[in-house]
Amino acid sequence: MLEHLNFDNSFDKLGSDFATRVNPRPLVNPKLVCVDSNTCELLGISKDNVCSENGVNMFSGNKVPPQFAPLAMVYAGHQFGGYSSQLGDGRGLLLGELNTHSGKYDLHLKGAGKTPYSRFGDGYAVLRSCIREYLAGIAMRGLGIPTSHALCIVRGDNAVTRETIEPAATLTRVARSHIRFGSFEYFYYTQQHTQLEQLADYAVEQYIPEYAGKDGRFNALLHYTTEQTAKLIAAWQAVGFCHGVMNTDNMSIIGETLDYGPYGFMEAYNPTHICNHSDTYGRYAYDQQPSIGLWNLNALAAALSPLINRDQARASLESYEGMLTKEYNSRMAKKLGFLFAKQGDAKLINAMFIQLEQLQLDYTLFFRQLALAKADDLQSSFIQPLLGCNNIAKGEQLAAWAAEYLTRRQVEDVPQATITADMNSHNPIYCLRNYFAQQAIDEAYQQGTYSTLEKLAVVLADPFTSHPNASEFETPPPSKLANIAVSCSS
Ligand code: AMP
Ligand code: MG
Repeated sequence: MLEHLNFDNSFDKLGSDFATRVNPRPLVNPKLVCVDSNTCELLGISKDNVCSENGVNMFSGNKVPPQFAPLAMVYAGHQFGGYSSQLGDGRGLLLGELNTHSGKYDLHLKGAGKTPYSRFGDGYAVLRSCIREYLAGIAMRGLGIPTSHALCIVRGDNAVTRETIEPAATLTRVARSHIRFGSFEYFYYTQQHTQLEQLADYAVEQYIPEYAGKDGRFNALLHYTTEQTAKLIAAWQAVGFCHGVMNTDNMSIIGETLDYGPYGFMEAYNPTHICNHSDTYGRYAYDQQPSIGLWNLNALAAALSPLINRDQARASLESYEGMLTKEYNSRMAKKLGFLFAKQGDAKLINAMFIQLEQLQLDYTLFFRQLALAKADDLQSSFIQPLLGCNNIAKGEQLAAWAAEYLTRRQVEDVPQATITADMNSHNPIYCLRNYFAQQAIDEAYQQGTYSTLEKLAVVLADPFTSHPNASEFETPPPSKLANIAVSCSS
């Protein structure tokens, strides 16, 4: 059945300057780990087909049907601020572009073996990193944030050396684009300006076809990427997502979250939180993400410079901060249960962040609990669930802020039940805490079973609704296990 899917391998048609044809390396004794039903639905393929022997073979690199055109895409990128002149798909392949009822999606096989761009890498992905990417895609989609998705994970008997020996796996990534800021940087810095233009034209045709063939289309592309990136990073900040490696080779040209490595979600609030263990100087700390987004867009503009009007490009880049702030404010207003912006809100929100930081409150739980706060009983409706009973001085400080907040919220004269329901639809109960992801990984590694993974996937797919059978995922782990930094090795 899967062989009858409708592929349109348009990137392949760009030719060998853009990618190298490589066949995937098979996994030894491939076994299915998990399949995401929502991604199956997105693609219009049946879960049974993915789970079949044929499906497992296709999504482990063991079988390459003629509709696939496996490609390693070339790109470069600024990594931690320094330019790397050639990166590219070193352990992943674009299998093909699938036409679906909801548009065209790239199928990308992560862990598909060595390619000409592997440099010193082995081309493998380990099961741990596949599980983390799988869960991240589900969590971000559940939160309504643009993201790549994972169709399935297959593990093999191949052993891979990282800090320890780990099982190899493949993850089939589904994304609307795998073109990165760094894809343009590669052609710009190698002075291949004809190919640069070809790639830019391709991106215009694919993602903003209304500009195809028109004057000013490359400025339109930069503007589109700027807008999508601003909105994406505003969404990350609002939910407390920390990407961890915002190198230009990990930035999607269409503003989808791509390349999940050592990411994290904010737990005890700390604006300078660094989720990537290797990020010594905090270049990609949570509070740096908006400005790094702009830095990366400047790098993209530099790469597109032979094609674009400079003044217009500058205007696009200058509009980034306003677009990001607007989107962020709108998301925060929804989280706080405000219908419209009011003078004084910024002061109230700043005071809230001071409380969150000083009291080390859990970012996700705080907002969910805030929806339940009652003016006549702040202690048991709000303070105690967040701080416990023994923190009287801290509780008073937080109560003073909450009283002010409730007075502001009442201005809009909306019934409490409506406010609570609205806030609950914007503030998740569940968050992909690294501690939970690690529990799923430990079970997979130690027992070869995936019940934590499956259960976590269910709540993350629908994080705003209570799942009574999964109450263990509602509360943060003990404080020493919160906000853990994760290493890059994957
Ligand atoms: P990432 O940190 O996953 O964004 O990867 C950065 C670059 O290193 C990309 O060009 C990857 O393809 C490459 N890479 C990462 N891990 C491996 C690996 N195990 N084997 C080969 N290349 C890799
Ligand atoms: Mg990458």
